Amino acid sequence: MNIIEKDKEYIASTYNRFPVHLVRGKGSLVYDENGKEYIDMGSGIGVTSFGIADEEWQKAIAAQAAQLQHTSNLYYTSPCVILAGKLCEKTGMSKVFFSNSGAEANECAIKAARKYAADKKGKDYYTVITLRNSFHGRTLTTLSATGQEHYHELYTPLTPGFAHVEAGNIEELRKTALETKAAAIIMECVQGEGGVIALDKDFVKSVAEFARENDIILIIDEVQTGNGRSGMFYSYMNYGIKPDVVSTAKGLAGGLPLGATLLGEKVKDVFGFGDHGSTFGGNPVCCAAAVSIIDRIDDALLEDVREKSRIIFEEFKDAPGVESVSGMGLMVGIKTVKPAGDVVKECMNKGVLCLTAKDKVRLLPALNIPADTLKKAIAIIKESLNP
Ligand SMILES: *Cc1c(COP(=O)(O)O)cnc(C)c1O
Repeated sequence: MNIIEKDKEYIASTYNRFPVHLVRGKGSLVYDENGKEYIDMGSGIGVTSFGIADEEWQKAIAAQAAQLQHTSNLYYTSPCVILAGKLCEKTGMSKVFFSNSGAEANECAIKAARKYAADKKGKDYYTVITLRNSFHGRTLTTLSATGQEHYHELYTPLTPGFAHVEAGNIEELRKTALETKAAAIIMECVQGEGGVIALDKDFVKSVAEFARENDIILIIDEVQTGNGRSGMFYSYMNYGIKPDVVSTAKGLAGGLPLGATLLGEKVKDVFGFGDHGSTFGGNPVCCAAAVSIIDRIDDALLEDVREKSRIIFEEFKDAPGVESVSGMGLMVGIKTVKPAGDVVKECMNKGVLCLTAKDKVRLLPALNIPADTLKKAIAIIKESLNP
């Protein structure tokens, strides 16, 4: 049996994989078992921030693995402390809780907000307002937060205490938040799985102002948009707002599992001993990997991300077969005349790996994708757009 057949036999059938067996890579290039080369325009859904098998990242992991790979959270270790300090320094947030995924980072954010509201306003202030078309994860609670019905259907009853409102409709948000005694509002500044849609600037600012006036915790989900992807360290920085809580994961550790919930001044001490926890959270190897990533997301890199973003937008916006281009930074959605799935398949045949989001082709290349590799990928994607 080959790997594809074995996978179908032994791996739960939740993933409709492409018939490609990837075995290795370097930077923005990956290779399948037959040695076929692909340009990676998806980076494992925005995870491999500096590409595959990046040298600096490898060294950080190897050094930490040779020293200490896990201790449990019963003891002090330094990589998580160093990483938390850097994250707080870059954001002005106050404390960090580490977990292992985006969903867990959001779970912690929701718990923090509920506890803050219960302590401060009373137990009936628990509702979390989220946006329709959002995506916040696959656990039962983060599914509840996710504003897309089709994710809910199979798993009812979901966690109660969530209300969904339309992105861009500040009146609906205000009314719903006040009526439901909201504890928190959670949103992605650029909805990723929902179709790579950047929220309107005035809307985001109004939400932040409303949240502050009413002492409602504002959580920004930076799981996909974070860690340089948007062209700023976190996407909310493009909007001139200051959230109370930030959740992040995907690109944070460059390909190892790590989630982080950044707690602002209001909620930094909301958790006491035993109020929350994670066996693997803050794992030394994952945190050492993240430090090697975070240290390189400086102004020069961010400017480079924005420049490559301009190139992608410019190349696609009037290209034949393209209806529209959306997104921010190196998080781009292309609405194509031809079905997005067909474009992705054709790109794959021609040696470029792309993603989809709803009815769009989604591009999330490594932050350091070389300019000539990017140009080559763009040319191949363009060739694949013709109906
Ligand atoms: C991917 C994603 C999540 C879930 O992250 P997991 O690591 O898969 O749990 C949550 N929020 C957003 C915005 C995401 O893109």
